[in-house]
Amino acid sequence: MDKKLNVLVIGGGGREHALVSACARSPRCGKLYAVPGNPGIAQEAECHALSVTDGAALAAFCQDRQIDLAIVGPEGPLAAGVADALRARGVAVFGPSGAGAQLEASKEFSKNFMARHRIPTADFYVCRTMDEAEEALSHFSSPYIVKASGLAAGKGVFVEPTLDGAREAARQMLVSKKLGAAGETLVIEEALPGRELSLMVVTDGTTYRLLSTSQDHKRLLDGDRGPNTGGMGAYAPAPWVTGELMDRVRREIIEPSVAALGKEKLDYRGVLYVGLMIAPDGTPKVLEYNVRLGDPETEVLLPLFEGDWVDLCWRVAQGELASFPWRKEKKNALCVILASAGYPAAASAAAEIHGLDAAGAVAGVTVFHAGTSAQDGKIMATGGRVLCVTATGETLQQARERAYEAVGKIRFQGMQYRNDIGHQVFEKKSV
Ligand code: AMP
Repeated sequence: MDKKLNVLVIGGGGREHALVSACARSPRCGKLYAVPGNPGIAQEAECHALSVTDGAALAAFCQDRQIDLAIVGPEGPLAAGVADALRARGVAVFGPSGAGAQLEASKEFSKNFMARHRIPTADFYVCRTMDEAEEALSHFSSPYIVKASGLAAGKGVFVEPTLDGAREAARQMLVSKKLGAAGETLVIEEALPGRELSLMVVTDGTTYRLLSTSQDHKRLLDGDRGPNTGGMGAYAPAPWVTGELMDRVRREIIEPSVAALGKEKLDYRGVLYVGLMIAPDGTPKVLEYNVRLGDPETEVLLPLFEGDWVDLCWRVAQGELASFPWRKEKKNALCVILASAGYPAAASAAAEIHGLDAAGAVAGVTVFHAGTSAQDGKIMATGGRVLCVTATGETLQQARERAYEAVGKIRFQGMQYRNDIGHQVFEKKSV
């Protein structure tokens, strides 16, 4: 058997808890660390309170602890060049270089990348002034799509029914600088009709493999109503995605995207998340690239992953993905996010969480921590997305029943969640 590897997971949300759990299950995993981690992660990894964007400090930490492999969860550290800083000190990294991370950190860069390589996407204009924004908007009709080019934590995309609304969104960013530097450049683009699909592509820059299809639920409330959030639940696989559609997406989107990484000599070893719009006639176009795993998609994809996750990340980091024995997932998974009162608009006071052990005892269930802290032996909800309750099952129906049974055992002040995760599959609006 290959040498065991000491592993560092960078990040502290539900996605990173799922990453740490997948590593802990892996036969190749030696000592497991997380920065900064959270109380759930601390049950499986040694957590350290370092800055996730300080490449020099992280590199020194890795050398000190003889860490072989770092797995980077969020986009912020990647855009800040953490993977480059670690590689320069001999640490293998699952996560793209700072240059590769521009595919998410700059929509101007990613749209021009797609245009250069003829990867299908919405027609677009890049604007830096209100005059340019007016000119761009005159080429489109309702709904108008106005996007901040930079990283805006999910708050930089505006889908506006009226021209006045679109102008106002542009003005807020270009003139009032509401999003700071992230909104100094805008992408204004054609609205695409259809159904959204996200794919997580594992790639070493040459070879690629697809994780299972999954479906996120962005809106806060049942029936896909209410404001957009970071995601209130997910399930995998997405049964409506046919083999024929996947073949088309591979041929027209995934393969040209991976080939383009090579042509541009981008050091890209990690996950390319491709957000797609599938038109009613089945034509796929790229809405966006992200340079890391989705959250909460990771919390359903990793419990399904059949294989040694650390070994996979190691081979990707070495540029040897082709040698990894990839197996097809056999089960289904569904997760429900438990968020605090006021999410996503406002923060809320810390509240004690009850019932975690009882929830974790339900067959097939894992409770991932996202916004929690430990205080005097208690686990507290500290705001935002607090917990992610994931269940696997032989069928999606079984996964859903188990997930909601576990959700019923958890309580904290102001807890809110959706009752209808998976409604696209089950049709019924609630459990
Ligand atoms: P993005 O972060 O660029 O994926 O945009 C966030 C969300 O805005 C997407 O998931 C879509 O729901 C919506 N969106 C973005 N771009 C478009 C577009 N060109 N046409 C229709 N909807 C869009």
